[in-house]
Amino acid sequence: MEMAHMYIVMIASECAPVAKVGGLGDVVFGLGRELEIRGNTVEIILPKYDCMRYDHIFGMQISYENLWVPWFNYHIRCTVWFGFVHGRKCFFIEPHSNDNFFNRGAYYGFPDEYMRFAFFSKAALEFLLKTGKRPDVIHTHDWQTALIPVMLYEIYQFGGMEKCRVCHTFHNFKHQGIAGEDVLWFTGLGRPGYYYDRRRMGDDFNPKAVNFSKGAVVYSNFVTTVSPMHSWEVLNTEWGYGLGHTLHLYREKFGGVLNGLDYEMWNPETDPYIAWNYTAENYENKGKNREALRERLWMRHNSKPLVAYVGRLDSQKGVSLIRHAMFHALHKGAQFTLLGSSPELGINAEFWQLKNEFNNNPDCHLEIGYDEELAHLIYAGADMLVVPSLFEPCGLTQMIAMRYGTVPIVRAVGGLADTVFDYDYSERPGSERNGYVFYQADNYGLESAMDRAIGLWFDYPEQFLELALNGMNWDYSWNRPGADYLNIYNYIRHK
Ligand code: ADP
Repeated sequence: MEMAHMYIVMIASECAPVAKVGGLGDVVFGLGRELEIRGNTVEIILPKYDCMRYDHIFGMQISYENLWVPWFNYHIRCTVWFGFVHGRKCFFIEPHSNDNFFNRGAYYGFPDEYMRFAFFSKAALEFLLKTGKRPDVIHTHDWQTALIPVMLYEIYQFGGMEKCRVCHTFHNFKHQGIAGEDVLWFTGLGRPGYYYDRRRMGDDFNPKAVNFSKGAVVYSNFVTTVSPMHSWEVLNTEWGYGLGHTLHLYREKFGGVLNGLDYEMWNPETDPYIAWNYTAENYENKGKNREALRERLWMRHNSKPLVAYVGRLDSQKGVSLIRHAMFHALHKGAQFTLLGSSPELGINAEFWQLKNEFNNNPDCHLEIGYDEELAHLIYAGADMLVVPSLFEPCGLTQMIAMRYGTVPIVRAVGGLADTVFDYDYSERPGSERNGYVFYQADNYGLESAMDRAIGLWFDYPEQFLELALNGMNWDYSWNRPGADYLNIYNYIRHK
């Protein structure tokens, strides 16, 4: 099908590497770049957080001075900034009000969270309206921007934006944006009787609440989640977190598109953050990264495999299994390292305690915190990466690991099941097998997969190498998913 080039605006709460907490940030950047490579015009709208990585923004300048955003019965003045983030065109919205929405030293985790992002959503639409920007497609992401399709349909289309279509992507169904009546009055939607109707935004389980994400399902022209397996899970299991019913009603416009990796950001051949660059052809250099990683983390140099975990320490990630992976790796004669942090104080404290306990163990190092550069070195230096998630919409860490020739050990859920194929048991041909998979979310399940991986590393190093190279040679780029999203955009544009 011949496709005309499109003007696409992404509106999101994250974009890597300037404002990134997890995979959402990677996707906004990577998909944006892919769409541009394919000849489309892409702009990204973000909040202007005080805690962003300003060193990744180039040519920051004021783009729009007095953007007055209607809010309750008054207006909040905003400044809109423009800057390039590694080539992506980004607008940053800075509100000037006592609410101080985005100057709090962290991206998330505040009691007025839904007000912060309802305001951001409103301001982004107001910015498009006032500047005469009329994208063919607005792509919104997660609950933070889920009110955009609602406000576009109910308010902004009447201001001349009637041709804009919306695609909404769910990166995580656990957080949906639950609010009370006040948010309706602040955003100018008003009419509680109308919006509390369960056919619109009325929450199915809390009669006193409106649900932003439900609104996105009802009002968007198309809804996606980040892997085919997860789209099935949210329709048919408890992982829809209560949205399953609504998704069923709208399943005609719902589907799963697997995330890609940005091949410039994640490329062992050119990665500036790793000690030695390498490809599948000179895989030996990966070993030098392992040495560099051990050096950096004060770990002992020896001939043990290095098992790693990188990611948020959220209950979703299987915190007790991550912890067990550490004990089991050490028990099996491997080394273990972890990079992660949690906004939950309890979980953080637990891992700090583990870190202190194992402080003197030269085969183990835990790094509690967020560190983009160190993450790259771990992907390059580790031999195996464990991802024992309870649920995982897509998961990028296993794909990054494979790109870096690190063998993933994953639980068979969501995107993990769509991307990792077991060395021993997969139905795929040998050349497509790329890791280890377990099913049960308990220590035995995890151990069975870890034992097989560590066993192969010790006893059949050549086969282990082959497995790692299978991962390196697979295409996890945005190439295919980029085409899938363009098909979706094109489909909704002509509806
Ligand atoms: P989620 O979106 O649930 O956090 P994903 O696997 O989709 O999980 O994406 C995680 C992304 O965030 C990866 O790019 C990973 O490298 C990065 N990341 C997570 N935690 C950290 C950390 N503590 N330090 C550096 N990078 C991290």
